[in-house]
Amino acid sequence: MKSIRTKLKLNNKQKTLFAQHAGYSRWCYNWGLSLWNAAYRDGYKPNTRKLREVFTNHTKPLYPWMKNLSSKVYQYAFINLAEAFKRFFKGLSKHPKFKKKGRSDSFTIDNCGKPIELNGWCHKLPFIGWVKTYEPIEATTQKITISRQAGDWYLSLAFEYTPTFTPKTTNVVGVDLGVKTLATLSDGKVFESVKSYRKFETKLSRLQYLNRNKNIGSANWRKAQLKIARLHRRVANIRKDALHKLTTYLAKNHGSVVIEDLNVSGMLANHKLAKSIADQGFYEFRRQLGYKCQWYGSELVVVDRFFPSSKTCSSCGHVQDMPLNLRTFDCPDCGISIDRDLNASINLRKRVLIGDVSSECKTHSTDAVGSTVNACG
Ligand SMILES: [Zn+2]
Repeated sequence: MKSIRTKLKLNNKQKTLFAQHAGYSRWCYNWGLSLWNAAYRDGYKPNTRKLREVFTNHTKPLYPWMKNLSSKVYQYAFINLAEAFKRFFKGLSKHPKFKKKGRSDSFTIDNCGKPIELNGWCHKLPFIGWVKTYEPIEATTQKITISRQAGDWYLSLAFEYTPTFTPKTTNVVGVDLGVKTLATLSDGKVFESVKSYRKFETKLSRLQYLNRNKNIGSANWRKAQLKIARLHRRVANIRKDALHKLTTYLAKNHGSVVIEDLNVSGMLANHKLAKSIADQGFYEFRRQLGYKCQWYGSELVVVDRFFPSSKTCSSCGHVQDMPLNLRTFDCPDCGISIDRDLNASINLRKRVLIGDVSSECKTHSTDAVGSTVNACG
């Protein structure tokens, strides 16, 4: 299964309809939660079916406005509530909380068991009618979720996907993720980093400064919060876009991709490094590379982080200390002078070529469900 999340191009009428549906979903979720809590207190064991029965027979007739909205909404609201309780009982998450307006507004609908076909830029959704997307989609799915983020509406869905094995131009490639550059490949190719956050940092801090005296919750405050959220989203999208380009290139064109298992949490503790690392999104890199290697039929090899990839000479094997400010590896033994990151990536590649990686370090990514977030806007 592959999943998509993409921005919707809506008119005001549609936006209103979506807001009503999201409100309906929240109402049902909260209604279900309070009933669930009360039932538990009285010694009953609630479930989705019982909730639905009480709702349709006793509650729904009291609220005529519900008749104008899709009945799928309450069904999925109860399913989600039951899922939340299941996670809670398994100890995976906290006790379900009441949903608040404006915070993760969303709703889910389906086509009464029939598949929903999406093809091109315009899509006919059950109950909702025609909607447009900013990018073409081709997928067949059972249900769709529509959610609001920073004032915009997004469509997300999951669909079945068969991996396409692409021809590989290079057998093994080592990748060193850097602080100065996004990534350096063992064949010398360099992906420049996008310092997205820093570029927008001044703008962000100015917005936050201007917002300092506004009354929390007031209309002006909300307007400014929306602006800040939009800017944050833009930064995240730019970063994600760069990572998608890099990970797609790596997975499509190489038989094995060798990366280092970075101790990110340890590195984040170092304040100077923290911002660069957060900028580059190492977690996201690893996640994307994991599922894309599956899609395109390549192997992801993760070398343990105690392997001294930066400190070893890629030419003769001499090991020396390499403080972070040293950008070039100068080997006193064989006299080679090579870029620090390139040296590290060549070492990672070599590590696999000489077979010095135990099989448990070789992973075909653990999470089978990949997802793409299509940045637009
Ligand atoms: Zn050397």
